[in-house]
Amino acid sequence: MSFQKIIGQKPIIQSLTNAINSEKIGHAYLFVGAEGIGKRTLARAFIKELLCEKKAMIDCSCRACRLMATNNHPDLIEVNPVGNSIKIEQLRELQKNAYFHPIYGKHKIFFFPEGEALTLAAANSLLKILEEPPPAVIFVFVATRLESLLPTIRSRCQVMHLFPVGIQELTDFLSKKGLSEAEIEKKIKESQGNLKKALAEEEAPQEELVSFPDFFSLDLLALLVKVNELEKKERNVILDLLQQIEIEARAELVNCIHKDVLNAKINVQQLVLFLEKIPDTINAIKSNCSQRLALETLIVSTKLLIDEGI
Ligand SMILES: [Zn+2]
Repeated sequence: MSFQKIIGQKPIIQSLTNAINSEKIGHAYLFVGAEGIGKRTLARAFIKELLCEKKAMIDCSCRACRLMATNNHPDLIEVNPVGNSIKIEQLRELQKNAYFHPIYGKHKIFFFPEGEALTLAAANSLLKILEEPPPAVIFVFVATRLESLLPTIRSRCQVMHLFPVGIQELTDFLSKKGLSEAEIEKKIKESQGNLKKALAEEEAPQEELVSFPDFFSLDLLALLVKVNELEKKERNVILDLLQQIEIEARAELVNCIHKDVLNAKINVQQLVLFLEKIPDTINAIKSNCSQRLALETLIVSTKLLIDEGI
């Protein structure tokens, strides 16, 4: 996919296009954003623009673009987890390969679509080459959370933060697909700026455990009852749910989708403070803290936040 076909993320596309046009391309990029927001698609589009022989910025059928379309471009090396992680052994050959010239063009790209899967040892083994990369080499990492990569890796990358797609852009896109106004409104409400959801033809039925507006519309007792239900779920289900709530809260900051429910209850500053609490809850659960305790702390501290009227 070319930059031209990407929905949203215009400031990032502009900055990457400027870098390509002025030939001031960095040696390492990190695309960060919530699941489903389109960060891998954007990273792949950037790689396509880097390797395209015509620098076409649109769909193109040059040799490089054809090879990329079939995952056969020799100067694009994609590194995926084996099992659950990317291990140091996988990177040994890669690091040797980095010192050979690219076969077709000016660049050789090492692409990590799941950057958070790097083990500590694997990430550490990349530091030297990231510090002094061979001139043709460009590293492209993708991650859902910035903190999931070592600070020493992050600091060597140009970080691109993706934001939920704006209502207007989504509306324009969905109306071009021929959806009715009512369908578009429904999709936008459900997707919260999450492209994967907005573009899904059919949504899998989802069990409603607790949603983002619940934190503000339900009273403390009703929320604690929900925690009872949640506690029976697996850790991953709860982590996914918290991540979804974080996506929705971020989308709310940009698009004010639930302003009818939320405006009376909280202001922007409180919403930002709520957003800051979610990673703490996720980290607590990841480090094997009691799920119930972590969720109750989030709920009670959110309620205090509202009551104190900061
Ligand atoms: Zn091309």
